[in-house]
Amino acid sequence: MACALCIIGQMLTPYHIEITLQALAEYFSPRALSAITYANIHQDGLGGQFGHDEYHFDNNAFERTYAYIEEQRTLTVSALQKKDAPAAWSAFGRMLHTFQDFYAHSNYVTLWLARFDGQAPPASSNIDPVDLSLIHSPDLRSGKTYYPFELLYFWRPARAFALSWLPHDSHAWMNLDSPEQGFKFDYAMQAAMRRTVIEYGKTTAGFSEDMCQLFLDK
Ligand SMILES: [Zn+2]
Repeated sequence: MACALCIIGQMLTPYHIEITLQALAEYFSPRALSAITYANIHQDGLGGQFGHDEYHFDNNAFERTYAYIEEQRTLTVSALQKKDAPAAWSAFGRMLHTFQDFYAHSNYVTLWLARFDGQAPPASSNIDPVDLSLIHSPDLRSGKTYYPFELLYFWRPARAFALSWLPHDSHAWMNLDSPEQGFKFDYAMQAAMRRTVIEYGKTTAGFSEDMCQLFLDK
């Protein structure tokens, strides 16, 4: 059984798997896809939980998070140049995890939906995951983790109590980690899926044919 600690502050593991497989299945071999997905969900293991806001877009650590993302992208490229495909898949999987968490842990989806205030919003599949005016908006926030109190949120009998005490800028209030969080979850999933494809394109754009072959493993 997964311990509660393994899911704190995280979009739940099955959703990271679903997003990654659905977005990338057509590009990679099953072996490469498995390695990428494994590295992705490993970020939510116990070792990645505390003191790693940059893995999960938590606590408004945007600058640190973007630096981490570009570090993983650079590692992906340098591993391929050394013909080390497994290291490239791992770095790429770690990078994707962070991008996917962005939509579940920030108010990006809420800000995007606010544009349609008063009218029915477009279907979730129409969300633009890279609206720069929102990405750079002074109103953009990500959930703060108020440990240890935040832990109560993950014990179901204490959830309502925890929410009554935690501030509204907490991870507990802001997360879109599962369908229980309501209709915005679908928008977070769709945005994460589209962003995954965009980052795949951005990362592989300058690859030589040899690098592509090694990376896609096909
Ligand atoms: Zn995470």
